[in-house]
Amino acid sequence: MDMVTLRAPFLLSLSLFLFTTLAAQQPRMLKTIIVDAGHGGKDYGAHGAYEGGLGSYEKNVTLAISNKLVAELRRQLPDVKIVPTRTTDIYQSPPEKAEIANNNKGDLFICIHADAVALKTGRRQIGTREETRHKITYTGKGKKKKKKSTPYTVTVPVYEHFKIGSQRRGTSMWLFAAHKTSDKLKAVMRNEGEEDMEIETDTDSSSYDQIDFSQPEYKMMASVHANRYQLKSIKLAEFIDQEVEKTERPALGINQRQKGIWVLQATNMPAVLVETGFITNYHDERYLNSDEGQQEIAECITRAVKRYKEQLESQKPAGASTATDNSRAEQQVLKEAGKQMKSEGH
Ligand SMILES: [Zn+2]
Repeated sequence: MDMVTLRAPFLLSLSLFLFTTLAAQQPRMLKTIIVDAGHGGKDYGAHGAYEGGLGSYEKNVTLAISNKLVAELRRQLPDVKIVPTRTTDIYQSPPEKAEIANNNKGDLFICIHADAVALKTGRRQIGTREETRHKITYTGKGKKKKKKSTPYTVTVPVYEHFKIGSQRRGTSMWLFAAHKTSDKLKAVMRNEGEEDMEIETDTDSSSYDQIDFSQPEYKMMASVHANRYQLKSIKLAEFIDQEVEKTERPALGINQRQKGIWVLQATNMPAVLVETGFITNYHDERYLNSDEGQQEIAECITRAVKRYKEQLESQKPAGASTATDNSRAEQQVLKEAGKQMKSEGH
């Protein structure tokens, strides 16, 4: 009896969630796009703190790119409502970001981030200095024993430590990984039934440690997201990757991540995260901080969104079985994405 009373509210909210999810799935139209500038305010994100670096912060880069992306999308898709999560340097928790997306009934959620890798520390000698040391000698024995300290000078090298910028550069696409292994993820992408979600808490990032990832509603959201939106998310990620490939910078493909990507699976819509470039790489950091670089990324994403929109809206309306209704095009995209899918994170 206790079980029933405890479970009833949860089941009610669950069925409401599933109902709204199904209802939202019906129209194959791209009406609203949410653009999320990653981090913000007290959450600085990654830092370009290496020798020769600009010392820029991810939150500022993501905001600049987001603002350009919003402008570009509005210019090229005037009939689509574009909703930025933030347009200034403010802090929003991941649930707040997800709430903005869900409240605006977005059909697509695009997160803008910049990548970073742990930097190696280098050391070099920058000079020498004189150091006084003491030679200790003893004279006498027993109670008459005396300590004698004789100073002498030595020349010692002086070193300086510095962070070495990373080699890795380029743009990569990230999806919320519903499962730990890519095999399992592919199984979900083929819609071969639901499995238990495993959601890890992100203890590295202060912005995420407030969330209890074990709550059933979050697990359920992850499950629904994986089943309903994964194909569309992959499709958009593929298009963005292809557009980046046409530029002079490396397109690093589609990846999945377990941690710190909570905001993607908490949105009731297809969602992708763009790691625009490495803020820890000399060339990428300059690119990410330049007007030209920011604009190029905004245009790549906009072209990809237009292709996604055209494909989405040219499909025949889905019938009752939307959950397993994958067009041939979707299957093809899925196949190719599966081939490229890398299971490694960083
Ligand atoms: Zn980030």
